[in-house]
Amino acid sequence: MSYSDILERLGLSQAETTGGSLKVTSPVDGAEIAAVAEIKAADVPAVIASAKSAFNSWKAVPAPRRGELVRLLGEELRAAKEDLGRLVTLECGKIYEEGLGEVQEMIDICDFAVGLSRQLYGLTIASERPGHHMRESWHPMGVCGVISAFNFPVAVWSWNTALALVCGNSVIWKPSEKTPLTALACQKILEKALARFGDDAPEGLHHVLIGGRDVGDAMVSSEDVPIVSATGSTAMGRQVGPKVAARFGRSILELGGNNAMIVTPSADLDMAVRAILFSAVGTAGQRCTTLRRLIVHKDIYEQLMPRVIAAYASVKVGNPLEKGTLVGPLIDQASFDGMQSALAAAKASGGKVHGGERELAEQFPGGYYVRPAVVEMPVQNKVVETETFAPILYAMKYDSFDAAVEMQNAVPQGLSSCVFTTDVREAEQFLSDVGSDCGIANVNIGPSGAEIGGAFGGEKETGGGRESGSDAWKAYMRRQTNTVNYSRSLPLAQGITFDID
Ligand code: NAD
Repeated sequence: MSYSDILERLGLSQAETTGGSLKVTSPVDGAEIAAVAEIKAADVPAVIASAKSAFNSWKAVPAPRRGELVRLLGEELRAAKEDLGRLVTLECGKIYEEGLGEVQEMIDICDFAVGLSRQLYGLTIASERPGHHMRESWHPMGVCGVISAFNFPVAVWSWNTALALVCGNSVIWKPSEKTPLTALACQKILEKALARFGDDAPEGLHHVLIGGRDVGDAMVSSEDVPIVSATGSTAMGRQVGPKVAARFGRSILELGGNNAMIVTPSADLDMAVRAILFSAVGTAGQRCTTLRRLIVHKDIYEQLMPRVIAAYASVKVGNPLEKGTLVGPLIDQASFDGMQSALAAAKASGGKVHGGERELAEQFPGGYYVRPAVVEMPVQNKVVETETFAPILYAMKYDSFDAAVEMQNAVPQGLSSCVFTTDVREAEQFLSDVGSDCGIANVNIGPSGAEIGGAFGGEKETGGGRESGSDAWKAYMRRQTNTVNYSRSLPLAQGITFDID
């Protein structure tokens, strides 16, 4: 099957995928698969004006009716699952199983958001004044800007968009410049849902901005975009966060991670080995929740590590479209170079490196395939503290559980974490106030691969934002406190008297 068949079935015409200034290459083999048109930063204000005007009518549509649009989007995603999953694989290189999994996640969040559209609950609050009633209500905010990274090119959009739409907002999406095709395909899928929905969805409810950072910046800097949800590197968050804050906008930052697993003496090592493998080499180490640090009790280190190293040596690296492949390519050469320099730095600081070499260079001269690397480190140093977005797992020993938790927390990032143990004291300590400092903390399950039902995000340099399930929807709405006086007098709060004769 050729690229163009998939693009065509997803509704993208030849004219939309050829002749543009942004060249799209597939990490599978480095081949150019499309060239799409880009928007200029100077044209972004007109897009924002269109989204703002759409918001003004969309906010008046009842929330359960807004949910109907997201229900239709979920139906269209079900119909497009295989094609979109394959396009995810072609454009960002994750194996087809994971491409399908990413689309399933989109379907799941749509289902969640449909239910949510009837549950945007506020509180009722007891008033201290007689004949008064207080409540808290939630209202649409305005235009929601979404910036997304290459490694989850479509799921992150859906986490934000499904919630933003039921919450009554319009959406402008600036996808990664490395994955514009999947973004354009999502726009087409949403258009199908909009066509079925009816006239109460206004023109301009959703826009895609294909372009570079300057285009993202035009959105980030606009006072007409009250929410900016930005997913990507911590370096990006350092630029975007302060800009949004300077204009008193709201940002939802989902940035880099440096996720750890503690393996204790009582752990089920068979389970631990499987979890290590999936969470450290899955998506070729290019997940924000990828396992990057393995903190192993010194008494079981010699038992566990040979198994991990052997599994790493045998894992199938190859074409992500082929059945049986577990590790696809890195996104590009810059990513490969970054991995090699991290490995060199780790080695120079006393690390023992297993794996990490380029593979399949003859078959795919333009693709960057690597054997995932395990690096045994004497200590957790600066190299380990840095997120290198590639399959490198640093392994270190610990001797007391408290020291292991301290090591887990002693990095600048705070996204995901886990412990493998069958000791309830260790498990509960890890999840307690004195345990993991991350946004996600798991027991006997790896740090990657979250379900949409929970709030997703992390602390410290990961940015503090929360997306997806639980009450993450509140970040897309404006909270209002209401007091209603149904009495015939006007008592003041705190018993203040303020009488006029
Ligand atoms: P990146 O930071 O290079 O780019 C992410 C997006 O930000 C792109 O769309 C890019 O164009 C945009 N961008 C960059 N600088 C900008 C600026 N100054 N103004 C406006 N937009 C700007 O990240 P990447 O290489 O695509 O993705 C990998 C990184 O993303 C890793 O650090 C990974 O951990 C992180 N990530 C985090 C999460 C999460 O939920 N926490 C999820 C996926 C990826």
